[in-house]
Amino acid sequence: LVEEGFLPEPEQFIVPTPHMSFVWGDDNVDYLRRRYEALKDEPLFLGMRFSTDPKQIAEWAPALMVGRDKDQRVAATYSSAGTDVNFGALTKLLLQGINQRGAQVYLDTSVRSLKRGKDGIWTIKLRNEIGNATREVRAKFVFVGAGGGALSLLQKSGIKEAHGFGGFPITGQFLRCDNPEVVARHDAKVYGKASVGAPPMSVPHLDTRVVDGKPALLFGPFAGWNSKFLKTGSYFDLFASLRVHNLYPMIRAGLANFDLVGYLLGEIFSTREKQLDALRQFYPDLDPDDWYLIDAGQRVQVMKKDAEKGGVLQFGTELVTGADGSIAGLLGASPGASTAVPIMLQLLEKCFSDRVDSWRDELTKLVPSWGTSLNDDFDAAVASMTHTADVLALAPVDPDAKPDDVSVVESADADGEFEVEV
Ligand SMILES: Cc1cc2nc3c(=O)[nH]c(=O)nc-3n(C[C@H](O)[C@H](O)[C@H](O)COP(=O)(O)OP(=O)(O)OC[C@H]3O[C@@H](n4cnc5c(N)ncnc54)[C@H](O)[C@@H]3O)c2cc1C
Repeated sequence: LVEEGFLPEPEQFIVPTPHMSFVWGDDNVDYLRRRYEALKDEPLFLGMRFSTDPKQIAEWAPALMVGRDKDQRVAATYSSAGTDVNFGALTKLLLQGINQRGAQVYLDTSVRSLKRGKDGIWTIKLRNEIGNATREVRAKFVFVGAGGGALSLLQKSGIKEAHGFGGFPITGQFLRCDNPEVVARHDAKVYGKASVGAPPMSVPHLDTRVVDGKPALLFGPFAGWNSKFLKTGSYFDLFASLRVHNLYPMIRAGLANFDLVGYLLGEIFSTREKQLDALRQFYPDLDPDDWYLIDAGQRVQVMKKDAEKGGVLQFGTELVTGADGSIAGLLGASPGASTAVPIMLQLLEKCFSDRVDSWRDELTKLVPSWGTSLNDDFDAAVASMTHTADVLALAPVDPDAKPDDVSVVESADADGEFEVEV
């Protein structure tokens, strides 16, 4: 889309930001080394580096090392090919684009109900949030992409495929810092290791995030709780979603996941001091006054009926489709903005199975690697990453950085003379 001028300069929605993993303690250092050994020969991890040298890690991300106990063993992996994507900005740009090409985009409008008529056509009732004017739209196909609002809309659609699904809301909170001096110390997304019982999307991370051109640091996520399914939702959302068919799966899923329940309770009753301590493990030299807590979003954790266990927690994305392929919706605690493209390709194959073959050539032009495993083909992976980096103004991929040439900087002990200059 950038190449063809449908999207403006890529800096408006994507910027290069190195990605790192960072751990401390003997066991974790050993784990990260083994993880690096397992990944370094994979084409899609081309150029990944590993180090246990505090000086090298400080060069990659100074904030991690300033003020750290010199006797603590640390290790990190580093990839300069990482990015920070502002999905909000990208969504707006895409909507502007399709609007200019004739699609109708209704803003400040909520979907109140949807019903399929005998003629197979869906009637969707809309209400404008400003002035409460109502409107109806008729459609042959409906995609419900409503985040935390998707469960309720799928329930309203009446399709039986939505039976047995329940949702449990968890607020995603982050500590945020806007102080330019601190932000200047850290230009990377640094992931640690998740605590025991924590859901997969809760791996602690200290991120540079650029919003509206302004970089900030975010550390989290921490879990909070309220009963809303959307940040702007209602406290009745959870209770209104309960049905005879989803109550039992929800109870069974809760009973089977006591470690998660324990983790959540610990998080919800956590104090600011504990949250700052968690951050200190990544940024020992912090000034508490620089950091404030924000509610970043609501995640709706999906629970679903399971023939064997009664009910299970679902961590990934759940694409729910009506049997006749005329409706699909996306459920999941974190379907993942970054996974939107593969999910939509999957949707096309599921809901338009009779037409997708005739679209294949066009779709392959848009996504050349569709249906192939890039990681199995070194040359194709390099070509794809080089082209992407070139078009989106990202850090270039070095095709000569074959795994054997990847520099491994090792120093088991910080020799006491270690200092970091910022
Ligand atoms: C704290 C946090 C951090 C995250 N970090 C990452 C990350 O680093 N990488 C990543 O890939 N993903 C991340 N995610 C996940 C990602 O944000 C979501 O998976 C993604 O936004 C889901 O997109 P969506 O369009 O399906 O839903 P949403 O972004 O939730 O959008 C749904 C929209 O539908 C609207 N809506 C709901 N009900 C109705 C209705 N009845 N009528 C009309 N409109 C309605 C809502 O108002 C909203 O605007 C994160 C999520 C959170 C909460």
